[in-house]
Amino acid sequence: MRKQIHVLGVPFDALDMEGAVQKALGFLQDGKKHYICTPNPEIVMEACKDKELMMILEDADLVVPDGIGVVWASRYAEERLKERVAGYDLTQNLFAKLANTQETFYFFGGAPGVSAKAAHLMQEKYPGLQIVGGHNGYFDEVEERKIIADIQKKKPSVLLVGLGAPKQEKWIYENRRLLDVKLCIGVGGSFDVMAGNVKRAPKVFRKLGLEWFYRLITQPSRWRRMLKLPVFAFQVWKERNHK
Ligand code: UDP
Repeated sequence: MRKQIHVLGVPFDALDMEGAVQKALGFLQDGKKHYICTPNPEIVMEACKDKELMMILEDADLVVPDGIGVVWASRYAEERLKERVAGYDLTQNLFAKLANTQETFYFFGGAPGVSAKAAHLMQEKYPGLQIVGGHNGYFDEVEERKIIADIQKKKPSVLLVGLGAPKQEKWIYENRRLLDVKLCIGVGGSFDVMAGNVKRAPKVFRKLGLEWFYRLITQPSRWRRMLKLPVFAFQVWKERNHK
């Protein structure tokens, strides 16, 4: 039975990283099509206002907390989430497990050149990793049809979609049936990190749950987005007090 923990209505799977990796690997074996969402507090807030996004998250085969704020907030839910499962780390673990197997990847998203650089560096980091194609995430309708045709031709096992949220979730939902892909994952800005253009916070920040703080000081242009974090905390507090 799938166990889910709701944070402001968004159903997160009660799994740690290892559990999430095993579940994702299982998705490649059962002959069905699946998608994984990796919401952070900002997206949880967005889903409270956007019914379509909430429905997409409810319909996802796996929803993991990509943000320590979601894990903290879950202490007020029926049960606590065990740990943060960042989309970036989840995909790194899948690369490690799926290198030297039949399973293949496609990198879709990011600025021109980023997915190609990311693919090159990931193949260096995980020898035997099969990345069969990629495309940047800036397209018009004509270009989009070509991208879909390319994905159809390459038939990757796993399609990583890094268009930023909620664009990537909506794109996956709209196109998933068209695509001959076993698993789609919305990965946000992960290609920028894989390409070395954006640095992850040092381990000590991640361990302490302070990656958001590191991002604030290293990418100050994100401060406006970060203002949503205290609003998220307030919403969670409000919901708890109305129970
Ligand atoms: N992006 C894209 N197409 C778009 C808008 C954004 O490919 O139309 C990419 C952008 O280049 C970046 C990622 O989506 O690589 C969004 O990164 P961000 O860190 O903002 O994502 P988050 O993980 O916070 O959703």
